[in-house]
Amino acid sequence: MALVNEHFLKLPDNYLFADIAKKVNAFKVSHPQADLISLGIGDVTRPVCPAVTEAMHKAVDELGRKDTFRGYGPEQGYAFLREAIVKHDFMPRGIRLDPSEIFINDGAKSDTGNIQELVRWDNSIGVTDPIYPVYIDSNVMIGRAGLVENGRWSNVIYMPCTAENNFVPQIPDRRVDIIYLCYPNNPTGTVISKDELRKWVNYALKNDTLIFYDAAYEAYIQDDDIPHSIYEIKGARKVAIEFRSYSKTAGFTGIRCGYTVVPKELTAGTLDGKRRISLHRLWYRRQCTKFNGTSYISQRAAEATYSPEGKEQVKATIGYYMENAGIMLETLTGLGLDVYGGRNSPYLWVKTPDGESSWRFFEQMLYNAHVVCTPGVGFGPSGEGYVRLTAFGDRGDCERAMERIMKRCI
Ligand code: PLP
Repeated sequence: MALVNEHFLKLPDNYLFADIAKKVNAFKVSHPQADLISLGIGDVTRPVCPAVTEAMHKAVDELGRKDTFRGYGPEQGYAFLREAIVKHDFMPRGIRLDPSEIFINDGAKSDTGNIQELVRWDNSIGVTDPIYPVYIDSNVMIGRAGLVENGRWSNVIYMPCTAENNFVPQIPDRRVDIIYLCYPNNPTGTVISKDELRKWVNYALKNDTLIFYDAAYEAYIQDDDIPHSIYEIKGARKVAIEFRSYSKTAGFTGIRCGYTVVPKELTAGTLDGKRRISLHRLWYRRQCTKFNGTSYISQRAAEATYSPEGKEQVKATIGYYMENAGIMLETLTGLGLDVYGGRNSPYLWVKTPDGESSWRFFEQMLYNAHVVCTPGVGFGPSGEGYVRLTAFGDRGDCERAMERIMKRCI
């Protein structure tokens, strides 16, 4: 008899967005005429830019001709893209990486979920709370997170990020083997300063901790002094793996392409403490076994985001979303709400008025303003009392949603 991996059974059945969909459907049944606006789900809405579609057309044509056809590509990704990444994403920020340290993937979700395969099942993990659920769920599946009780996993160290600590997670007072950080943060939309990030890198160097740094939203950073990469901090190459994605940067949620940086200096110990093992070598081995590369078309599309036209067009789209964020921020703060994020990030994290629960405020927005948001508690215990709004919508929808919230909700 084949036996299941029972760790999967520990995962709660209901995924946050399925719960939201259920409540929205119930609303639609009783309000069939209502014109709902979603400021909830984290998908983009602007089309991919012309530089990208042109590159994809060209790549498709190449695949259709005998002399330019390509089959399997390198598991790690084509050199043309890895070289462009090093040149455009890192060199201008004074970061020296070798293209061989870049691993192209089909978006950051796969690698942020898979990366934990590199470390033993009994490593301790620390996460900022609230958090992008993939980090914890992927550890649950392998048995590393322990058991869930009152919305908390027994083997996970939660580092609360709330208005009370200005969304700056406190460095743990004990050793933790692995720390997940995500900046700009999903869901809170907050960022980390260089000084704060330096504290994490120094903690990791001192405690032999591995940092998984998710920078999927770095393209939204507007302020010059906010770090885009953990490698802007001295010593980070020894302790951190970084994840990037073209999904929110350039509208690739459907195309699928991202990358992971695994520096060659990064090592982890063996149980007997006698050897240090290169995580680059392990990840390369893992990818060669389980991954057959991102499509050539997606990689050419990603490369096109670095052309002069591509850069301009991508910047314009990000500018569009950030204008949405500005409109939302102004309206909601004008209503007296406490709103975080939205300045260097497409996410706004709104404190519910009068201490209402996340789900209660979600329903108020749904039934009074016909606007869908995401209850913060769905991202972790410290998300209770907040909701997340995203700036990824259409401008008209965003403005209409704000008008309705002004008139009917608060
Ligand atoms: N990391 C964070 C923090 C995210 O919010 C998302 C998507 O919402 C991802 C990673 C994964 O994005 P993708 O797989 O589309 O690159």
